[in-house]
Amino acid sequence: NTIVRVGMASCGLASGADSVYEELSKVLVGDENTILKKVGCIGLCSYEPLVEVEIEGKRTIYGYMTPELAKELVGSSFRPTSALKEKIIYSDEETQAPENNRMAKQVRIVLRNCGIIDPEKIDEAISRGAYEAFSKAVKEMSPDEVIDEVYRSGLRGRGGAGFPTGLKWKFTRQAKGEPKYVICNADEGDPGAFMDRSVLEGDPHTVIEGMAICAYAVGASHGYIYCRAEYPLAIKRLNIALDQARERGFLGDNVFGSGFNFDIEIKEGAGAFVCGEETALIASIEGKRGMPRPRPPFPAESGVWGKPTNINNVETYANVPWIIRHGASEFSAFGTEKSKGTKVFALAGKVAKGGLIEIPMGMPIREVIYDIGGGIADGKEIKAVQMGGPSGGCIPSWLLDTPVDYESITATGAIMGSGGMIVLDETSCVVDVAKFFLNFTQRESCGKCPFCRIGTKRMLEILERISNGEGKMEDLDLLYELALQVKEGSLCGLGQTAPNPVLTTLKYFREEYETHVKDKK
Ligand code: SF4
Repeated sequence: NTIVRVGMASCGLASGADSVYEELSKVLVGDENTILKKVGCIGLCSYEPLVEVEIEGKRTIYGYMTPELAKELVGSSFRPTSALKEKIIYSDEETQAPENNRMAKQVRIVLRNCGIIDPEKIDEAISRGAYEAFSKAVKEMSPDEVIDEVYRSGLRGRGGAGFPTGLKWKFTRQAKGEPKYVICNADEGDPGAFMDRSVLEGDPHTVIEGMAICAYAVGASHGYIYCRAEYPLAIKRLNIALDQARERGFLGDNVFGSGFNFDIEIKEGAGAFVCGEETALIASIEGKRGMPRPRPPFPAESGVWGKPTNINNVETYANVPWIIRHGASEFSAFGTEKSKGTKVFALAGKVAKGGLIEIPMGMPIREVIYDIGGGIADGKEIKAVQMGGPSGGCIPSWLLDTPVDYESITATGAIMGSGGMIVLDETSCVVDVAKFFLNFTQRESCGKCPFCRIGTKRMLEILERISNGEGKMEDLDLLYELALQVKEGSLCGLGQTAPNPVLTTLKYFREEYETHVKDKK
């Protein structure tokens, strides 16, 4: 059989993939040898709409497709005409296809099914091994063995903090109190980030399965997926996936006849960035205003409804089924000594070819930008890479050989973050970039503590003065001093990290700030 896949995540739909799909479904009527599928993000987002044709296991991906080209593709019995040949961006057979190298450089653990299965059909997920790890965990492993396997894999929280996942699970398992809960943080709010959305839109079952395995390990019976309401397609596909998982007996009472009960409900966020902070997220689930509270107690001890709760983000859970199926050592074979496995990034900004990528930890940033991202658009020079969104920082071009791992990225002053990677070129103004992110965090501050509420406001005023050419040299020192105070005096991660874009740009590009001030002495 020939399989034709159309990338229909938000990226594809925004570029007109639905009309390509419609045309294909019309011209393929009655063709029993061809299977047409709607799939999630294929990853090559800058070429949307994308159509992939698989014949006898060999894949060819066409970019910038139109309904006319789709018709031509079927009319030529999938033997590409000269017009279509120009649209080939990846091919298992043509070694010269422009994106072959980009795909070969990646390792797909989290994204293993994204762009391959129809996310609305559980049978397609099952045919790729979905729920096998859950079955293995429940039938063949004790909860402690599951936790031990996850711990030995070296998996660390992919939401940004990088805390060892197995250890977090152990704390929840050991905590006193019933019932216990698991939460999936899908409140992805960093500007420029779309990793979690793409996973949920492309392979919701892997997240559900990861949560179910976690629930079994920590002894939880109820789960919440806290997903931002701005992700309607992800929520729709999650709801379909949850219904299908219930129908097949993967969720509900007495799963696999083991006596284990577990179900998941979706909570839609109301658009506050601070609700990505775990204690604010918990408050929001409980129906309260989403404001962080001091820790301890940590959620593992006292989380939602005051009960032991494990919180991980989408990508963390999506790794878990693969780890249980393949074993901790296979996972830890990827990555560096302290950062194991892979990391998904949303590659965006002034890079030639942005998109959704998954790389083994330890790959130098330069390789990500040039070998996977195709370098800088319009042949310009790179200035910096902004990693970690509003909590992260700018890594300058002379540090591009920094490997992508938690410790090395933190040493630059940026953070790994959840996976936003925004490339800046020589024309980007770093003061504007710092101002953009600070403006974002300032607006999103919940207002609970003065350093974050007032300090970020004063920082923003100084930045505005500087970028308007009305600042003074002494403003730079004031900005720096204030940034340190806000970092030090804020209660939660939002305030503690809000100064990072300013601090890193001041550290690496102080002369650029100086050119903006009035008294350039
Ligand atoms: Fe709220 Fe900012 Fe304080 Fe966090 S640091 S609790 S966002 S005011």
